[in-house]
Amino acid sequence: MNATLVSADGWFPSSWRSRPARQMPSYGDPAAVAQVETRLGSAPPVVAIDDAASLRGALAALAEGRGFLLQGGDCAESFDDPVAEQVAGIVDLFDAMAARLSPVVNGGLIEVARIAGQFAKPRSAQHEEHDGLSLPAYRGDIVNGIGFDARSRQADPQRMIRAHMQSVGTAASLAAVRAGQPIFTSHEALLLPYEEPLTRRDCNGRWWATSGHMLWLGDRTRHVDGAHVEYLRGIENVVGVKCGPSLKADDLKLLVDRLDPLGQSGKLVLIARFGARRIEELLPPLLRAVRGRPVVWIVDPMHGNTSMAGKRKVRRLPDILEEIDAFFSICASEGVHPAGVHLEMSALDVTECIGGRGPASIDELDRNWLTACDPRLNRTQAIDLAAHVAALIR
Ligand code: PEP
Ligand code: MN
Repeated sequence: MNATLVSADGWFPSSWRSRPARQMPSYGDPAAVAQVETRLGSAPPVVAIDDAASLRGALAALAEGRGFLLQGGDCAESFDDPVAEQVAGIVDLFDAMAARLSPVVNGGLIEVARIAGQFAKPRSAQHEEHDGLSLPAYRGDIVNGIGFDARSRQADPQRMIRAHMQSVGTAASLAAVRAGQPIFTSHEALLLPYEEPLTRRDCNGRWWATSGHMLWLGDRTRHVDGAHVEYLRGIENVVGVKCGPSLKADDLKLLVDRLDPLGQSGKLVLIARFGARRIEELLPPLLRAVRGRPVVWIVDPMHGNTSMAGKRKVRRLPDILEEIDAFFSICASEGVHPAGVHLEMSALDVTECIGGRGPASIDELDRNWLTACDPRLNRTQAIDLAAHVAALIR
């Protein structure tokens, strides 16, 4: 590599390659992966660097105690998504939620969707078993197919090209539908062979991910010396960090130092996802560990409130609201700005989370269960949640 392209601290878009990379698919043919990476390297950006920079600017206010971040969307997008309808639906849902939140937010509502790149999924188990047959786990449409057969489950690098094309279309359509106040895009930065070639320089020589406006580090890949942290430390975008129950205060400090050594306001969004039962025990030490750093704290009340009923993931709205309530009250007693929520939600009338204006019990989940991965709030549950949050802000 040309030495002038390497930043002073040894970072380069491919520097993650010398670090242990968890949750990465094993592709059979490395030459085919390299070919795809080359193609992505000359493919158009999904988002404009200027727009990613304007999200960075907007988030600085949150670190200073003003404004609110509404982040949400599918757990995983799919190649089968009807893009125009999906975009119209999510914009309409953001509009309805913003109508509840904007009037009470002091300093402006910032809207970020999980969209136009949310295709890769971390998995707890490498394999999935049905009727005695064991196959590789589904890792999102950008990696393999959801069908339970050997062919679908084989990781195919060409899927990165298709995910990129769909993301370009989705982002363009999102920008066209919401031409005024933007809805920014975000996804988990999990599949690094996809992220690396879409990392581009601005006119000042700084590197930006152009796969989305905001990228986040998942709870399963946040090892400070791992490949994902290495990749994310070098980009200028807003970076989210999922903070789950196993995160220790000292490790969070190391992560914040590594990802934001200069202490830039609004660069890091720390996303608490402990579950209603554990947030009161686990969040305060983390808030104290990074006190004085210009980080933004938000809550993901979905991922820590998931249990299993047979093979089905179960989430209940009362637990979700309880974790949000606890987040606001802990922030109040610790003197931290409760700066936002991160949700899995659908614009459709899905039956994936129990409670409120949704299914009353596990038996009703089958009626319209559409998610490719985790259960999402349906439209009315999400709007009611926004009203609940508005009451907390007020
Ligand atoms: C997700 O946001 O879909 C996810 C997998 O979250 P986490 O990394 O917090 O488990
Ligand atoms: Mn999820």
